[in-house]
Amino acid sequence: MWHPFPEGMIVRLVENMNRLGTETAFEVLARAEELGRQGKDIINLGIGQPDFATPAHIVEAAIKALRDGHHGYTPAQGVLPLREAVAADLHKRHGTEVSPDNIAIMPGGKPTMFFAILMFGEPGVEIMYPDPGFPIYRSMIEFTGATPVPTPLRMENDFAFSADEVLANVNEKTRLIIVNSPGNPTGGVTPKSEIDRLIAGLADWPDVAIMSDEIYSNMLYDGRSHTSFLNYPDIRDRLILLDGWSKTYAMTGWRLGFSVWPDSLIEKIVRLAVNNHSCVNAPTQFAGIAALTGPQDAAAQMMTAFDERRRIIVPLLNTLPGFNCLEPAGAFYAFPNIEGTGRSGKKLQSEMLEKVGVATVPGSSFGIHADGFVRFSYASSVENINSAVQRIGGMLAAG
Ligand code: PLP
Repeated sequence: MWHPFPEGMIVRLVENMNRLGTETAFEVLARAEELGRQGKDIINLGIGQPDFATPAHIVEAAIKALRDGHHGYTPAQGVLPLREAVAADLHKRHGTEVSPDNIAIMPGGKPTMFFAILMFGEPGVEIMYPDPGFPIYRSMIEFTGATPVPTPLRMENDFAFSADEVLANVNEKTRLIIVNSPGNPTGGVTPKSEIDRLIAGLADWPDVAIMSDEIYSNMLYDGRSHTSFLNYPDIRDRLILLDGWSKTYAMTGWRLGFSVWPDSLIEKIVRLAVNNHSCVNAPTQFAGIAALTGPQDAAAQMMTAFDERRRIIVPLLNTLPGFNCLEPAGAFYAFPNIEGTGRSGKKLQSEMLEKVGVATVPGSSFGIHADGFVRFSYASSVENINSAVQRIGGMLAAG
């Protein structure tokens, strides 16, 4: 058989590949599925995706698009009616004007962070990111050779960032600051007053870009309203906004997201898109239009269900010995501190999965200071939540 390399030769990868991290939630998902195949009864509170189907009118719009012949390439930036729908949605939700020319349709939320970090990261520069936070931020920063500078999100601060702490770390080497509220894995929401202070302080650093990951901006509880970084005109010329359909419309597998870029960067992101994926698949873009312009009741019903589950899971977790859980203000994650169990998050997560079939994600997957935590996604039924906590309680009682 033909082989591209002489027998025994080891291929030589670029140095950066050694630094690329991963998202442990996908590994947990694979292990949970494997255990399920072995006949174990697994409750999956690991992966962060709604347990609802994509609303029917959205699915129909994609099918119709295919029937109508939308099966070819589209402009790399996304079809204009979708970008117009995104602009209208941003206006409705945040009261802000965004031109469709500044919007890029992306294959999910993740590619925006991937490309933004690629644009700004290189050896010798610093990129700040939330910790605990979405693991891909740090992974990609390290991949580029830039130095990752964590912004600690503390439980005693309701997992909000402190503007003073962020600003204290900004220096001449800082190229990009990543923020995420409502946050994964904590469900924390940073108050507007703190964002105001950050933006005011950043006036002293006009060449530092900001990427605000607002993928959970539709998912707030107790009547809270979202403060978008789009609402700060002073930073619009250096703001990248990440958002998308995955969480709000139960569309994680469709791979559809969008980002807003300043005039100086939009051409660059479109060029990266052309080089990478050409465009998002056409029927999915039409589904995106239906999601934004169609009825919103299915999305609202999902939020009502998440809220109900939040009110159930948090008190239940707090009944477990050694658990201390805050009430999340947004998203669909509970992030209890579990140090009182005498285990690390990793140890507890592995025990819960292997012994009692409850899949979660250890805090250490989300940062360097989060080993005493475990993330529970409550995008799962009340029944599952009840029996998961019951199983964990039994496991802890057994020692
Ligand atoms: N940003 C955050 C904070 C997330 O939690 C996620 C997904 O879990 C994403 C971005 C990526 O979203 P998508 O699945 O649309 O790529």
